[in-house]
Amino acid sequence: MSTSSALPDLSALISRRAQTMTASAIREILKITQQPDVISFAGGLPAPELFPLDAVRQAAETALNKYGPAALQYSTTEGHPPLREWIAERHGIPAQNVQIVTGSQQGLDLLGKILINEGDTVLVEAPTYLGALQSFQPYLPQYAQVPTDEGGIDVDALERLLQTTKAKLLYAIPNFQNPTGRTLSLERRRRLVELTAQHGVLLIEDDPYGELRFTGEALPSLYALGLELAGDVDRNHVVYCSSFSKTLVPGLRDAWIEAASPIVAKLIQAKQGADLHTPTLNQMMMTELLPLLPAQIETVGAAYRERGAHMLRQMDEQFPAGVAYTRPEGGMFLWVTLPQGVDTVALLPRAVENKVAYVPGQPFFALGGGQNTMRLSYSSATPEQITQGMRALGQTFREALA
Ligand code: PMP
Repeated sequence: MSTSSALPDLSALISRRAQTMTASAIREILKITQQPDVISFAGGLPAPELFPLDAVRQAAETALNKYGPAALQYSTTEGHPPLREWIAERHGIPAQNVQIVTGSQQGLDLLGKILINEGDTVLVEAPTYLGALQSFQPYLPQYAQVPTDEGGIDVDALERLLQTTKAKLLYAIPNFQNPTGRTLSLERRRRLVELTAQHGVLLIEDDPYGELRFTGEALPSLYALGLELAGDVDRNHVVYCSSFSKTLVPGLRDAWIEAASPIVAKLIQAKQGADLHTPTLNQMMMTELLPLLPAQIETVGAAYRERGAHMLRQMDEQFPAGVAYTRPEGGMFLWVTLPQGVDTVALLPRAVENKVAYVPGQPFFALGGGQNTMRLSYSSATPEQITQGMRALGQTFREALA
């Protein structure tokens, strides 16, 4: 037996890259919300009662019968060909421009890996998806925040920013953004695509929620506008990420990236080092589930429409004057802004005493801000929970503003 002093100091071995990773601020904050009688709107999970359990069971059986041992074998890094082809056909691009990934979360990590040099400037919305910041952070970028308003990215402010900042890439969620629920207008989409192209900035469009529109007109993706501008799928400066997590099920971890060939070629190499390929059986199962997708989108969209509308009605009734909130056209989240000076991190214990929980908005800002904001999710709440929860939140706000 060696003595303990002969053993390496394990924390001293952690890389500089990994030292930049911190326990998710949200995870820490949310520990206090996990009491059984607290109604929490903090999580962002898809509604589990809407998962097509029988169809998934059937899809596993069909895939195993159809492919036999090949369903359990290693497979190509690019992805299961019928799944890639279905995605490609739907979006009118060649299958070779589609890369299957293990959740869009892996897509974001791989994009960080192949694009970000230490010190590169990455432009993100203020606020943005926390998981993207977590994916990019280990590649040691510098962040610059793109100002946003009620309509999402403020393209005039972006234009000014691009004149003084040499950026590598811009990460955007144009539909029913996580965390705000905001959607970018067609005019802003065009400007965003044009401005980033002019300034040589790669544009990453993250679109897990686009299919879950419950009101208003569908808008063209940034990817489609980029394609229009470039006239060639292999020169498009927009990279598109989407996922079956919010439309079908998140647990199979099936998602994809659409990108120009030079990007896809590097993604394949990066993915080989990460996990060789997305699980074979999961991709085959997802392919079997595709015929169900339109009905599932309808079901999930209708449920979120109802839950979101109910939440907004309760907010209209229960929240005191001076509290503003978004009215999303789809997706799972809305965003609340309290008067300046109210700190939603400090307010959370009071909310929990009143038996309700939310996520404070601050962690969603790469460079800080948003102390007076919060995210609420309506995707997996019952009408009773929403009614009771908004009453408790209204009460909490009145106490804070008194
Ligand atoms: N991007 C955004 C904006 C998200 O909200 C999420 C999930 N919360 C993801 C990516 C990751 O999704 P996936 O399950 O496909 O990894």
